[in-house]
Amino acid sequence: MKTIYNDDEMRPSDPELERRRSELIEEIQAGMAATASRTGRSRLGKRLLRALREVHREDFVPPNRRQEAFRDSALPLDCGQTISQPYIVALMTELLDLDAHSSVLEIGTGSGYQAAILACLAGRVYSIERIPELARSAAQRLRELGYDKVETRCGDGYRGWPEKAPFDAIVVTAAAPSVPPKLLEQLKPGGRMVIPVGMPYMHQDLLLVTRDQAGEIHQRNVLPVAFVPMIEEN
Ligand code: SAH
Repeated sequence: MKTIYNDDEMRPSDPELERRRSELIEEIQAGMAATASRTGRSRLGKRLLRALREVHREDFVPPNRRQEAFRDSALPLDCGQTISQPYIVALMTELLDLDAHSSVLEIGTGSGYQAAILACLAGRVYSIERIPELARSAAQRLRELGYDKVETRCGDGYRGWPEKAPFDAIVVTAAAPSVPPKLLEQLKPGGRMVIPVGMPYMHQDLLLVTRDQAGEIHQRNVLPVAFVPMIEEN
């Protein structure tokens, strides 16, 4: 995969950056271990660990935030949005149980970072962003970095992407007041959805929603979280 480095201090082979990336991954693993009793996952799978090493978060944040990209914290993007905390990106991805054939829908492309991680694990990734400026810049970034398994579109995630449905997995990276019915409809039997549910800037819960082979829906509350709101178009 081609990686773009605009400034001289950011070199793919820079051992200092690789050291910082390894430290970040260790921090994420420690977070997984600390929350295992609630999440049911004590560690990240090998393929996800490789994805976290291969996808360079510093390529997805605004240029003045690159040094902060190695911290396990959320960071501001343009248009008042945020790129999620790496531990949360990892946990949400882990809970999806993706394999190389999975077809995944992401709501909230933002920077494209989560979509790039998903692309390392799944067969196909579809990602929807409502803010045209972010949708455009993420699509361009993902294309330039060579993530050609990701297809993006600008639109309202509450509607899902019916032309590409059903999906093995759906990940929502903005908080909805409840699980959007259209997204539930687009989840395959045996499929998994990870979604923060709650009111904007108030208490939100990360939910794991599954549809079993008989079509029944099951829901588990994983962790309290804080996401930007999922906004519905009128
Ligand atoms: N996954 C992103 C982080 C996204 S932040 C990343 O890795 O960088 C949440 C994003 O959801 C924001 O960009 C916001 O504009 C978008 N969003 C909010 N409501 C939406 C909706 N109804 N449909 C699609 N995207 C939405």
